Amino acid sequence: MSMNTVGRPTRPESAANDTAHATLTGARGLLQDEALIFELGGWDKTGVDLPEASAPSDALDGLLRTAPIGLPGLSEPETVRHYVRLSQKNHAIDLALYPLGSCTMKHNPRLNEKMARLPGFSDIHPLQPQSTVQGALQLMDRLAHWLKTLTGMPAVALTPKAGAHGEMCGMLAIRSAHEAAGQGHRKTVLAPTSAHGTNPATAAFVGYTVVEIAQTADGRVDMADLESKLGDHVAAIMVTNPNTCGLFERDIVEIARLTHAAGAYFYCDGANFNAIVGRVRPGDLGVDAMHINLHKTFSTPHGGGGPGAGPVVLSEALAPFAPTPWLVHGEDGFALVEHAGEAGAETAFGRMSAFHGQMGMYTRAYAYMLSHGADGLRQVAEDAVLNANYLKARLSGAMSPAFPEGPCMHEALFDDSWLEGTGVTTLDFAKAMIDEGFHPMTMYFPLVVHGAMLIEPTETESKQELDRFVAALLALAEAAKAGDVERFKGAPFHAPLRRLDETQAARKPRLKWKPVAAAPLAAE
Ligand SMILES: *Cc1c(COP(=O)(O)O)cnc(C)c1O
Repeated sequence: MSMNTVGRPTRPESAANDTAHATLTGARGLLQDEALIFELGGWDKTGVDLPEASAPSDALDGLLRTAPIGLPGLSEPETVRHYVRLSQKNHAIDLALYPLGSCTMKHNPRLNEKMARLPGFSDIHPLQPQSTVQGALQLMDRLAHWLKTLTGMPAVALTPKAGAHGEMCGMLAIRSAHEAAGQGHRKTVLAPTSAHGTNPATAAFVGYTVVEIAQTADGRVDMADLESKLGDHVAAIMVTNPNTCGLFERDIVEIARLTHAAGAYFYCDGANFNAIVGRVRPGDLGVDAMHINLHKTFSTPHGGGGPGAGPVVLSEALAPFAPTPWLVHGEDGFALVEHAGEAGAETAFGRMSAFHGQMGMYTRAYAYMLSHGADGLRQVAEDAVLNANYLKARLSGAMSPAFPEGPCMHEALFDDSWLEGTGVTTLDFAKAMIDEGFHPMTMYFPLVVHGAMLIEPTETESKQELDRFVAALLALAEAAKAGDVERFKGAPFHAPLRRLDETQAARKPRLKWKPVAAAPLAAE
């Protein structure tokens, strides 16, 4: 197998029985072999032709570079091919279904991209005078309006940059509200056992002790356990709805009532809002704070670590503690209230972001809202739920649903009891899906379900694509039950990388490249 200089295979490893057909170039069919960009050896060329600098070098105050910068040089076609080849080594939402439960990996409409690239949005700077960016501010104001309308909440903080960041924003507002009311002694946050890891992590980060709430046999918050744990020491509860088992919390209104009666706030993790958008307004359920992952529900792209946005809607009680900046409509158009403590922002807890948040994400999310309209957004939720229930129904004969009773919301959750005795684990099964051309589902989460397989098809998959996915999973399930263990234990066979030690890959990533032989550095 060819390896690059940091020791990674540069082409798909052939299946064990396929070595007789190893190619001479290292390419596999139409999938090209590709080295690191540093190994391509283009040190002496460049894809751009810049005029000689006209400014005198002394303008740099002695900071003029004296040695070559040491970047590889590629022509435009070489650059394009390099990145296209790399992109083919990984899965992509543009390639096939990406059923990673809890992540809402849906199609991102190209219209959103077009809108975000309009120069009026993409070429502005956060330090520009506000009078010159009135259109951008208006877009933020409209986005805020629709987030408040869709959630039935009176206030929104736009700036948090991810779901987890939004959780922190909401919990800081809750902490400030308690402190302002002389309730600073409340140091406990309750969260169900099925909670996303970010919930307890956020609560702990903000300084709270986290206590778990038990779950019922049908996957919901155990009300008796909740009631027994509420009290004068509890600052808030954090509950996801629909929850991470893909189920609607039937007792949500009662959960809110009990929480408020105990003097605590209700933080709702709204990452799964795409399952209820247009149909349920969390504000009507008694929620005090909820983040919305624009990169999930409103289709601003994510995956691969791209930017996200996690605006937080706040109740009347928490709104005074919202972080700056926020928009006000003054005589001369829109203006930003920037500083906590200044007039109108006396009780703001501070700020979550140096500037004004992820403008590109705001533009995409707003384009998504406008292009769908109220009826379209409602259909988003309906189709997300319909697709998940279709998968649950079609797969339940072969795999074991974790909560067989009743329909699910936007995710179908299976446990691994159906694999018992096959010698195949959830991990093996997921790896074999890669060979079939699908990204694995979320595995071993939520923790309350043994060997969990959490499948979220999203609303943007057609019936044909769902059927293709079902056919692959049913064939794999049959192979597992027929004792074809090798197919699973050795998988993936066809991916550029075989089975990784994922912990080591995350803990000790090899990020440095050193020239093998001293390369002549002569960048133009
Ligand atoms: C995705 C998700 C989060 C975290 O959101 P990020 O944007 O990844 O920080 C929190 N809770 C749930 C239930 C999620 O699905």
